Amino acid sequence: MAQAHKLDCESVSAECRFIVQSEDESEAVELATKHMKEVHGQDVTAEELRAEHLQVV
Ligand SMILES: [Zn+2]
Repeated sequence: MAQAHKLDCESVSAECRFIVQSEDESEAVELATKHMKEVHGQDVTAEELRAEHLQVV
């Protein structure tokens, strides 16, 4: 079974239940970056997401 890359917005914002999960790492990062900007007004770089929030499940 392929590994999935998961990013749980709860690790960033206690009130947000947004979860991104994709087998494509770059897609997961891209969706999460967009979510952070549109919903939370935060500019989070792909590097920050990868380093701090991305989990492999
Ligand atoms: Zn969120």
